[in-house]
Amino acid sequence: MHAHYVVIGGGLSGLAAAIRLARYNDNVLLLEKHSRVGGLNSYYYRNNRLFETGLHAITNYADKAAKQAPLNKLLRQLKISRDEIGFHQQILSEINFPDRSLIFSNDFNILLEEISEKFSPESDNFRRLVHDLDRTDPFESHPYRSARAILEDYLDDPDLIDMLLCPILYYGSSWENDIDFKQFVIMFRSLYQEGLFRPAGTIKNLLDLLVDKLNHFGGTIKLGTGVRNIIATGEKIIGVTLENGEKILCKHLISTIGLDETRSLLGTRKEVPDDRRLSFVESIFQIDKRIRDRLPQDRTCIFYSKTRPFTFEQPSTIVGYDSGVISLPFNFRDLNPDDDFIEIRTTQLANYRKWLSISRDTGQYDAMKCDHTGESCRQIEPIIGSFADGITYSDCFTPLTVERFTGKHAGAIYGSPHKISDGIIGYDNLVIAGTDQGFLGIIGSMLSGVAMVNKHILSKL
Ligand SMILES: Cc1cc2nc3c(=O)[nH]c(=O)nc-3n(C[C@H](O)[C@H](O)[C@H](O)COP(=O)(O)OP(=O)(O)OC[C@H]3O[C@@H](n4cnc5c(N)ncnc54)[C@H](O)[C@@H]3O)c2cc1C
Repeated sequence: MHAHYVVIGGGLSGLAAAIRLARYNDNVLLLEKHSRVGGLNSYYYRNNRLFETGLHAITNYADKAAKQAPLNKLLRQLKISRDEIGFHQQILSEINFPDRSLIFSNDFNILLEEISEKFSPESDNFRRLVHDLDRTDPFESHPYRSARAILEDYLDDPDLIDMLLCPILYYGSSWENDIDFKQFVIMFRSLYQEGLFRPAGTIKNLLDLLVDKLNHFGGTIKLGTGVRNIIATGEKIIGVTLENGEKILCKHLISTIGLDETRSLLGTRKEVPDDRRLSFVESIFQIDKRIRDRLPQDRTCIFYSKTRPFTFEQPSTIVGYDSGVISLPFNFRDLNPDDDFIEIRTTQLANYRKWLSISRDTGQYDAMKCDHTGESCRQIEPIIGSFADGITYSDCFTPLTVERFTGKHAGAIYGSPHKISDGIIGYDNLVIAGTDQGFLGIIGSMLSGVAMVNKHILSKL
């Protein structure tokens, strides 16, 4: 079989890359190992109900009028209208530290006011930082620079630095306690200056829309079709071999599965060992709606640290509870869910090796998952109020779940700490897009797919 363009991976970056290619080219083939698209951000069914695997909130919110905003540019590039998505903006989000908190929303002025009120000696410093960030081009090529060190040049209060970093690290860092400054700038804009939203419906609606677009432009998706290896001669990619042994020849290959994951398919050496990758555990609690009155009414996401300083590193225990994210997906604007249930989600750092060492045959693994959801609930109740008595169903995804369902080594949601910003790893016709190209989150990974196709393929047609 032959396809002109092959995209490996039906996550959000692969879908976006394939749609963009299919708008201008025939013969685009997307290969996804699983029976469903979405990758890290997909869905599953339990008790006749759909559960999202990843969605807390989507970054990069922009009003329709902001024509140059990344979100609106992305939608234009994929020929998606805003009405097809439907937007529910966050109400407020909170950074919750011992004795200190900051609120932010989709109006950046709220964060500015919070900082002048609660960190008044830092107010001018923060404005100077924002002024300089606004003039920084995060797409300029640079080796890794510590965002924390740059923040320390502007700000004196270590709590403020930690509080600003906490949401950014939790929503996009593959480094311990820090992040590359380029990515900090991208995340600062997308999280604080633009803000958070949820699409109408569930992630399934968004994924169905993307699949429809791809079909509409004539692209093909093959589900349940894993790539076993990439065939290369010297610096040229010839095609791929599927897990069922079939060969597909191609002229261009876009891989969205990760840098080392792509290298594994090429038979070349892994760059980053598993214990240098950051893994997380995500818990979902389905709760009787009657408990809602006890919970925060206006908080969409709460990024917390129980300690000062804030640490963001691989825990020595199976899960680290000192910090994390609490997502309250019922607190978006203009949502009128008619379910009898609401959901709470938590994200905490996890130790991949410790999860790996648990026997899966003896029931120990399931027992450990159960212990973790119980502990996660106990840890967050002091922050959001008690809800354990209203839990009707709970589940959690460990680093092993993420690894199994997405192929991400060590279940590292944000991939390798080594990012390939130009998407090129030494082959003429192979491009890396998605998480390891350096754009993170749902919108970031889609932007990456589109940007890499524009730069390396469409601009050369
Ligand atoms: C628990 C959790 C919560 C999250 N919350 C948010 C959030 O609230 N907001 C947000 O913006 N982002 C969130 N994210 C992050 C977001 O989901 C990701 O950044 C984004 O989806 C990454 O997309 P991707 O296409 O780059 O990678 P992936 O989603 O990993 O897609 C890669 C795809 O490649 C497939 N694949 C792998 N190997 C092969 C192979 N050999 N052959 C064929 N196919 C293969 C995988 O099955 C997968 O479908 C969350 C992620 C998780 C896990």
